[in-house]
Amino acid sequence: MILIVADHRDGKLTKGVFELVSAARSSGREGPLTALVLGSGLLNVVDEATHYFEQVLVADRPELAQYSPELWATATAQIALEGEAVLVLVGASRAGREFSARIAVKLDAPLLEDVISLEPSGGGLKAQKYAYLARVTETLEASGEVIVVSAKPGGFPVAAASLNTGEAFDIDLDLPVARVKITGKTVEKSERVPLMEAEIVVTGGRGLGSPENFSALIEPLADQLGAAVGATRAVVDAGWRPYSMQVGQTGKTVQPRVYVAIGVSGAVQHMSGMGKSRYIVTINKDLEAPIFKEADFGIVGDLNLIVPALLEATRKG
Ligand SMILES: Cc1cc2nc3c(=O)[nH]c(=O)nc-3n(C[C@H](O)[C@H](O)[C@H](O)COP(=O)(O)OP(=O)(O)OC[C@H]3O[C@@H](n4cnc5c(N)ncnc54)[C@H](O)[C@@H]3O)c2cc1C
Repeated sequence: MILIVADHRDGKLTKGVFELVSAARSSGREGPLTALVLGSGLLNVVDEATHYFEQVLVADRPELAQYSPELWATATAQIALEGEAVLVLVGASRAGREFSARIAVKLDAPLLEDVISLEPSGGGLKAQKYAYLARVTETLEASGEVIVVSAKPGGFPVAAASLNTGEAFDIDLDLPVARVKITGKTVEKSERVPLMEAEIVVTGGRGLGSPENFSALIEPLADQLGAAVGATRAVVDAGWRPYSMQVGQTGKTVQPRVYVAIGVSGAVQHMSGMGKSRYIVTINKDLEAPIFKEADFGIVGDLNLIVPALLEATRKG
């Protein structure tokens, strides 16, 4: 079996799960595509997962309501062993990186971590990953009957649903009692779609000139387009917006359908976090700005004139 640990939020699979399906397909490894869904109150997630996976293994238990690296690794390793998995795929979120290492130890399997590509190589797997803040791309090879892989969010295309409907099974697990528990959580309040899940991202750069202009132009445009808001490092370093909004090599990797970059020069470190977007649209007053080399559509001009006109044109009702 090919086992994918299916991450979910608010009763839906995350975009990363569909990227893992693409990673599984590119691996060339064979076996039923299987999702492992861990958590509590999973009805909707399981239903969604059956449209993408041949089989969906479900552990719906109160003690799994909260993520725990100990429980997630134990559960995944147990299922991988029982199902003789040839590949275990996990999204390389902070949690994913944490528990995938534990899975590899439990299975005594090699771990390919935070990869952006995967292909068969001899009997094993060949993968690429960024190193040294993405200045270097490393090629790695791993061999083993079972290989654990964590895939960089945004590193693989989002797979379409397969036509088949898979079957869901409740599974028995022999779980320890978690020794570490999350006892408090403060969540950043936002009505907007999360950056890495968004179909459209509107990103503002230093060209906006001030945080007030960012609020006046970027956020309203994003809201009118139903988009997430991103920022360049220049904006984050200046303290205009939080690090959680940073797109790029040292920020988030996004792969939306449409990426709108406003007042952004298109430095290589920024492009490495959004260059795989389906369409790149930009507004910049400098035709020589590097972003125009990558953009599908661009407007050369002053954003202070163009964005208000766009806001007017996209205003609902
Ligand atoms: C190790 C390392 C890691 C890095 N990681 C990241 C990262 O993760 N993400 C990231 O974004 N950067 C990163 N950077 C920084 C990166 O090199 C750039 O400095 C940064 O992306 C520039 O941000 P910017 O495009 O907002 O600003 P600028 O490069 O200053 O560009 C501003 C643009 O706005 C345009 N402009 C100005 N006024 C107007 C106007 N009125 N109308 C229209 N256009 C206008 C200008 O022509 C210019 O092209 C990293 C750098 C290093 C060294």
